[in-house]
Amino acid sequence: MSYLRAIHPKRSGGELAGVQVCCPGKVNLFLSAGSPTSDGYHPLTTVFQAVNVHETVIASVRDHQTSVTMSLESPNPSVPTDESNLAVRAALLFKKRYGITQGVHLHVDKKIPAAGGMAGGSADAAATLRACDALFNSEASLEDLESLARELGADVPFLLTGGVALAEGRGDLITPLTTDMELTWVLAFQREGLSTPAVFREFDRLHDGREELTPAAMPEPLIKALREGDIDLLADSLCNDLEQAAINLHPDMAETLRLARSSGALAAMVSGSGPTVAALVTGPEQARSVQTLLETLPQVAGTMIVHGPVAGAHVEN
Ligand code: ATP
Repeated sequence: MSYLRAIHPKRSGGELAGVQVCCPGKVNLFLSAGSPTSDGYHPLTTVFQAVNVHETVIASVRDHQTSVTMSLESPNPSVPTDESNLAVRAALLFKKRYGITQGVHLHVDKKIPAAGGMAGGSADAAATLRACDALFNSEASLEDLESLARELGADVPFLLTGGVALAEGRGDLITPLTTDMELTWVLAFQREGLSTPAVFREFDRLHDGREELTPAAMPEPLIKALREGDIDLLADSLCNDLEQAAINLHPDMAETLRLARSSGALAAMVSGSGPTVAALVTGPEQARSVQTLLETLPQVAGTMIVHGPVAGAHVEN
């Protein structure tokens, strides 16, 4: 790993060009959380699947500036564009690590709902790392990018590669899982988002006074289901320890889950820390009927049929 090489931004016909990177969101097929450690983090055993709802980040060089700036395709009051945005932090971290002095502008088109439990901010950060790598021809290895990703947040390393993976530690120690199984999901986005730290606080409150929790070991039935393409075993193995905490903070979700479960879907669960509800369906036909039902609920802001696994952050131009 050499940080001392001269790094030059990508040029097209002499002009500084933007690099466009696309990054998927994720659902957690399995999420088991332990009691927080002394540093406040919850140890996790989780299985991520990247699904085809994508963020797009276009990164370009600002030659006569040094700062990182950001714009949103659709401005959203719950998504900051200053240094608290995870994408801006990713570009600043990349610049610092590779000694880059030029400014960077990020233009972000968000399709993953903010604070929805699908790692939208982390997807923007993973996309930004890939975009900066391509923009400045830094030729960082995947390991280099993963080490930056780990500094930004627990979901960011997985989104660099996508697919399906077991994640341990804070969710940042990734073991890819191979599977030929393609899953179809109906996502129901709720009107209000949920803060991940607030969901973990509620999880702690629910377990307060009980014995120390340790996250589950490797979820063997789920891994077997993925390996053998057994959809019924997979549906039975889905699990999310944060579900009750998320429902307590967002009681409307209970109704969305109930309807999804009675709609004929194979299973329904909360995605990550919520409040997005993900219903597993047999294929496109069932997806459309489950989608039509879920759209009747007033608390559902929108729905989307997605599939996974898909590849992680990748350059598109
Ligand atoms: P996770 O599933 O990783 O817990 P999430 O998808 O529930 O995350 P995000 O959309 O990543 O949540 O955003 C959580 C909060 O982080 C937002 O409410 C917002 O204030 C802040 N934030 C910072 N950067 C971003 C970003 N690029 N996109 C969206 N929110 C961001």
